[in-house]
Amino acid sequence: MLFQAIPHMNLQVRDTFNKELPADIVEANTRRQVFEACFSYVKPRVPSNPKLIHVSTEMAESIGLNAKNIQSEDFLQVFSGDKIYPKTQPYAMCYGGHQFGHWAGQLGDGRAINLMEIEHQDQSWALQLKGAGETPYSRTADGLAVLRSSIREHLCSEAMYHLGVPTTRSLSLCLSGDKVMRDIMYDGNPAYEKGAIVCRVAPSFIRFGNFQIFASRNDVVNLKKLADYTIRHFFKEIDENAQDKYVQFFQEVSNRSLEMVIHWQRVGFVHGVMNTDNMSILGLTIDYGPYGWLEGYEPGWTPNTTDRNQRRYRFGYQPFIVQWNLYQLANALFLLTKDAKPLEAILNQYKDDFEKRKLEMMRSKLGLELKENDDVKLIEDLEQRLQLTETDMTIFFRNLSQIRKENTPEANLKILLQAFYEPYELQEKTEEKWLNWLSLYSERLQLENIASEIRAKKMNTINPKYVLRNYMAQLSIDAADKGDYSIIEELYALLKQPYKEQAKYQKWFAKRPEWARHKVGCSMLSCSS
Ligand code: AMP
Ligand code: MG
Repeated sequence: MLFQAIPHMNLQVRDTFNKELPADIVEANTRRQVFEACFSYVKPRVPSNPKLIHVSTEMAESIGLNAKNIQSEDFLQVFSGDKIYPKTQPYAMCYGGHQFGHWAGQLGDGRAINLMEIEHQDQSWALQLKGAGETPYSRTADGLAVLRSSIREHLCSEAMYHLGVPTTRSLSLCLSGDKVMRDIMYDGNPAYEKGAIVCRVAPSFIRFGNFQIFASRNDVVNLKKLADYTIRHFFKEIDENAQDKYVQFFQEVSNRSLEMVIHWQRVGFVHGVMNTDNMSILGLTIDYGPYGWLEGYEPGWTPNTTDRNQRRYRFGYQPFIVQWNLYQLANALFLLTKDAKPLEAILNQYKDDFEKRKLEMMRSKLGLELKENDDVKLIEDLEQRLQLTETDMTIFFRNLSQIRKENTPEANLKILLQAFYEPYELQEKTEEKWLNWLSLYSERLQLENIASEIRAKKMNTINPKYVLRNYMAQLSIDAADKGDYSIIEELYALLKQPYKEQAKYQKWFAKRPEWARHKVGCSMLSCSS
């Protein structure tokens, strides 16, 4: 019988970052401060026993890989770090950042290694391994990642993409076969966990912090090189010869970052660590660490136990943190513009733009197409009521499309019952407040000249039915730890169509179970990953 060879991968490599920007002249992989360079060449660590757990077939197709390519030995070798793709030169990026409000100096890709940039169907993509070993930027850590956090990153990146939220993507999830020591809750109980490697994908992984590191060192020459490179490749709408190109650049980064955070607020996503090194210059959600999804609607909630006291990165504050982070980026770009005024004007404009975009977004969640003056009050009243009793954000907004203006408020309230964690009937005032709000909402719906069914359909393209609830990710992690990857596959399939009814997956349209309320990994996550 003829042996049929599996076709090798054929990626169209088009490296630009490591071709057009200055490299670190030191080639040894030793931890150090790296000056006057955007990156350091570094090779991924060879994993002891790599095993492919999951691949996003959509992402694979987007970079030109088919089912056969995915099954090939090449795929596993390249995306676990075992083998370097021909004619590529992997590297780690140098960046700094403000962590929890304080300048932290040089950070950099401590465990991310950029493999290559490729082009497919006029789109360019950077491919990056996370958890593939140490780099000059690893500081005191090991350069590795554990299975639980890698599953969370892989599933959530793809789920966010299908929700329509700007995000970095994830191509693949591999086990490395190596053991990694972690103290999950930072309470003196370290233990070995399975090591894993995710291959992340994005047009670019450049962060606010890549600009900040040069500015902090007053290295205007390299700051300019990086800004020019970024504009040339990723902000093609900006004329490279325009006198105010860096101001235009800042405006565009501000717009994209606002767009990103508006989407987070729409779907109830809490990033958890919005340090400036975790802010993509392209306005993509990046670095899925101790993120979480709002279950009970609570603006003060953060999943990150490391931020438990300050709650700097709580849900309701995310849009203002984006502005704070933009302020830090403006401080860096000021070295190029030499004029603070236009940057300040953009920062001030952000607040007005946010109010405007938030109102538009909330109107769309409520199915309101006309603009009425009282809408702001209607929305504020709703946000207050959602907090009176613990109210599941996803279920509430999904069921809201079933509200009918011809129903009594009592009948409409029944439609929303499923979203309440506590029986609201126990609190007389609360029931009254909900009935009162529902009357106002019904009255408001009377003004709209659109059939209820059509409104419901539209609302269901804005308010997802399925999100990656914290306990769902944890269930897939617990099973995967025992070698069962079926829940990863099921959640991946489910979350490809988050707005669709998908009757066979109805069990995932449910409130968080009580066992998950205070469980580590579900409501409490640390930065340990
Ligand atoms: P994060 O809070 O995960 O965004 O990480 C902040 C910084 O720490 C970045 O520079 C990361 O590359 C680095 N880092 C996080 N975890 C590790 C690790 N296990 N090994 C090396 N560097 C790490
Ligand atoms: Mg990070």
